[in-house]
Amino acid sequence: MRRWFPGTSVGAWNDWRWQLRNRIVSPRLLAEMLALSPEERGALFAWNATDASGVPNPTSPLPVAITPYYASLIDPDDPEDPIRRSVVPVAAERDLFPGEDPDPLAEEHDMVVPGLVHRYPDRVLFLTTYSCAVYCRYCTRSRVVGKSQPRTTASGVSPAGHGHWDAAIAYIAAHTEVRDVLLSGGDPLTLPDTTLASLLERLRAIPHVEILRIGTKVPVVLPQRITPALLETIRRFHPVWMSIHVTHPREITPEMRAATALLADAGIPMGSQTVLLRGINDDVETMTRLNQALLTCRVRPYYLYQCDPVPGSAHFRTPVSRGLAIIEGLRGHTSGYAVPHFVIDAPGGGGKIPLLPQYVRSWNDDGLVLRNYRGQTCVYPDTPGRADTADRPRRARRLR
Ligand SMILES: *Cc1c(COP(=O)(O)O)cnc(C)c1O
Repeated sequence: MRRWFPGTSVGAWNDWRWQLRNRIVSPRLLAEMLALSPEERGALFAWNATDASGVPNPTSPLPVAITPYYASLIDPDDPEDPIRRSVVPVAAERDLFPGEDPDPLAEEHDMVVPGLVHRYPDRVLFLTTYSCAVYCRYCTRSRVVGKSQPRTTASGVSPAGHGHWDAAIAYIAAHTEVRDVLLSGGDPLTLPDTTLASLLERLRAIPHVEILRIGTKVPVVLPQRITPALLETIRRFHPVWMSIHVTHPREITPEMRAATALLADAGIPMGSQTVLLRGINDDVETMTRLNQALLTCRVRPYYLYQCDPVPGSAHFRTPVSRGLAIIEGLRGHTSGYAVPHFVIDAPGGGGKIPLLPQYVRSWNDDGLVLRNYRGQTCVYPDTPGRADTADRPRRARRLR
């Protein structure tokens, strides 16, 4: 704050609107703030993610935007800094590989009305806005987020404005099987309180909607947004759950802790969603620290995602075996609450598929042969696996 925003008061710095207004979007400012590597320079200048005046260029794949607060967590001298790598582009973003797809989860295909993805039987994903406070370089929706201009998608209209909300709300109201509405985007917490309140109010008025969920990275990149007024807005519409996108233990700052404490005290159960990223968080030690720190923030690690094959993400992707090794290194070794579900969101739109290390060694006449987290073998006296006998107790066996 003192170095790059001289004259700014602490009050302004702690005002989320100031943080949003002063987001770092210009390559020139970024070049002054950070000792850019050739790879970063190549992405920011040769390829011009924002235009010369610092306005995001709608033709670039994904704009650059970093709140001053989040930028303050970056090591200016280390291009390998995990927070820096997740938000500062590198030239490798232009490298495309087989299997990559702008819409890897086929969300456009499952859009029942613009901005509403109905894939699972009882819940919907509502893309409320395509703006975020900060743009993560590995974004699964880089095809649409951060476009300053309304953009036409395969389904016709872009959720860049809010014109699509009426149709989405009408769809949810008409589909009584929808009991869970997940507000995502973009980031719904970039919306003003009044806009968010009216959206929550309209959804809460639908009798069959049991729970509302907000998917957001705001408590991590813009914790100043968690104001008493926002909390009052949300708590009027309980039960509201929140999924917070976290990446690295260094994100767990006093500011982030204060924000999650306020959210938890407002009765909002929180889960975390983390993308497994090469060289950023793909080791047991980092993931253990992250998940244990989240529990102290009253945030339950929910999903660990295998990185989606979006174009230009190869430098972030790890082999699936890394994720399995991390789960293996967590389960049993630390609180079960600190162990998320490791999932692949199926390319082509099959939904989230859980992956577990192989704990079943075999299934034989003695029962189920398992191994525990220490590698010790255990046998559970399982009943025969046939469906028609599965719920009957096993015939008594002669004691050996
Ligand atoms: C992830 C997702 C959900 C929510 O899934 P949960 O496993 O219930 O958290 C719902 N709809 C879509 C399209 C999703 O991608």
